[in-house]
Amino acid sequence: MPDAVTPADIPHAPFRSLEGLVEAWAAFRAGNPVPCPGDGAPLALAVDGAAGVYRFVCVRCGAASQWFDSGANGLRIRGPTQPAPLQGGGED
Ligand SMILES: [Zn+2]
Repeated sequence: MPDAVTPADIPHAPFRSLEGLVEAWAAFRAGNPVPCPGDGAPLALAVDGAAGVYRFVCVRCGAASQWFDSGANGLRIRGPTQPAPLQGGGED
């Protein structure tokens, strides 16, 4: 059971798109569980208070979304957490 998985190692890292993050954030704020896309375990919200950003992290497999913030204009992705995307150009 690996315990040092990095997001880049996980092909199903959640919410690579802003749309997915918006949905997950809305569900989370409504008090609904947000399941990991890979294993269905709940995602926890990680907070970087210094930067004022959040991300979702799976409590089981450690898959993590990108960091984002939530302001008056909605969510903004604050940059990828992965050094390189595993799959680029999947636009279909
Ligand atoms: Zn997971």
